[in-house]
Amino acid sequence: MDHLLDAEKAAAGRLPGRVGLPVILTLRRGRDGGRFVGSESERVALLQRLAGEGFSYVDIEEDLQAPALDAHIRESGARIVRSLHDFSGVPPGLSRRFSALARRTDEIPKAAVTPTTCAQLAELLDVFHPHGESERVLLGMGEIGFSTRVLAPRLGSSWCYASPTDQAVAPGQVTPVTLEDVYRYRDITSSTDVYGVIGNPVMHSRSPMIHNRGFAALGIDAVYLPFHVPDLEGFWKVADTLAIRGLSVTVPHKQAVLGRSIRGDEVVRAVGACNTLIRARAEGPWKGTNTDVEGFLAPLRARFGGVVPSGLGATVIGAGGAAHAVVAALTSAGARVLVLNRTIENAQELAEAFGTASGGIDAEGMEAARGFSDLIVQTTSVGMRPHEDAEPAPGFNFSGREIVYELVYAPERTCFVRRALEAGCRVVYGREMLIAQAMRQFLLFTGSEYPLSLVQELANGLD
Ligand code: NAP
Repeated sequence: MDHLLDAEKAAAGRLPGRVGLPVILTLRRGRDGGRFVGSESERVALLQRLAGEGFSYVDIEEDLQAPALDAHIRESGARIVRSLHDFSGVPPGLSRRFSALARRTDEIPKAAVTPTTCAQLAELLDVFHPHGESERVLLGMGEIGFSTRVLAPRLGSSWCYASPTDQAVAPGQVTPVTLEDVYRYRDITSSTDVYGVIGNPVMHSRSPMIHNRGFAALGIDAVYLPFHVPDLEGFWKVADTLAIRGLSVTVPHKQAVLGRSIRGDEVVRAVGACNTLIRARAEGPWKGTNTDVEGFLAPLRARFGGVVPSGLGATVIGAGGAAHAVVAALTSAGARVLVLNRTIENAQELAEAFGTASGGIDAEGMEAARGFSDLIVQTTSVGMRPHEDAEPAPGFNFSGREIVYELVYAPERTCFVRRALEAGCRVVYGREMLIAQAMRQFLLFTGSEYPLSLVQELANGLD
């Protein structure tokens, strides 16, 4: 109500009857994240006037002492939601404070707090557990709290908060359409399995679209979420509390996860990085693998009719985590590889690990690339949205005979790809690798092949 104009507030009592759904009445002060600027007695008077107009719930902050208002709300048939908010953290003693919120058994306690680390998210999740039949609402705001919105039904929260589709949403908020279309919110129950991707940043990830569509198509009771993870150590407790059985791992954690007692397979050992974690039982030990290697090779093989020709000359631009998987894949397929990178030392280090040639992204490097020009693989993050105009190797001249493989998948046509297409090159797109590596993860997570019928749909809808 605090967002409405005075004239709109006067007519607000007609709202519950019109929407035909239970409606929650709130009238928030600035310190609770709202816009109400009048006095406390004016606020109580307005709540009291509106409370009798057919609202199902009236949300009142924990510090408000207004017994007459409480009695009036009860007489109107509405339920009181007794709420506490923290926009900067998870307050100490949240569990105790939350238990003491409801003043009577018919009140619904609600806490909306802001975890700033995964360790704090774990503390918040502890408040959810254990839960009985009692109604309550718990919510983690911000990107780190995102999972508590989507998992509200699994965690025993009576409802979750979503944001209108036509407004810019704050970090961690989700629209009702996304909740339904991507996460199948209404199908989530206390027994739904949880999977996810950990990274920082991660909220832009397309992986939830890929995995959740696969779960839906095969009728698997599971949901896949992005977990914004600034503190990896704090996250392991979250994974245990949510009984997570499978994770995708992205920047900057692909190497860091190996510091934990995670058993990496031979692919992880070859690449030196892990993009997939699985475990046979909740709280059991994690096993690590890397599906980027096969994910990279599958679309390439398809371009060559099934087998990457041995002795292929390949230039790899970039020497980061993705480049490690690409070089491991190419050398295992018998390709001759040149690694070019902005920071030459990183190119040298990668080249030494795999016995390849290396250089800088400079005139000398471009000259050397002429001997490794059957395939050009662009593995840097340059050209990624929102920096679409950036070029990783502006001095590179395409002859038109190269196959160009771009790992960036948003946008689909980077500057680098556009130049390659203009020169007549054949192109392998980043989304092809993204989908191929995710399909392998899906098989590892679920034991089921990813539905092929979805692949074309994904290819058209991921940009
Ligand atoms: P990373 O480990 O952070 O490596 C980044 C690489 O980009 C490094 O070689 C870095 O060079 C280079 N770089 C960064 N900024 C640059 C600039 N302004 N000019 C020149 N070079 C620059 O990242 P990553 O994990 O390898 O990921 C790289 C890209 O691959 C990302 O766009 C990611 O989305 C994409 N990717 C796609 C898939 C897929 O399935 N399609 C899979 C994995 C990754 P320095 O060494 O000089 O810093």
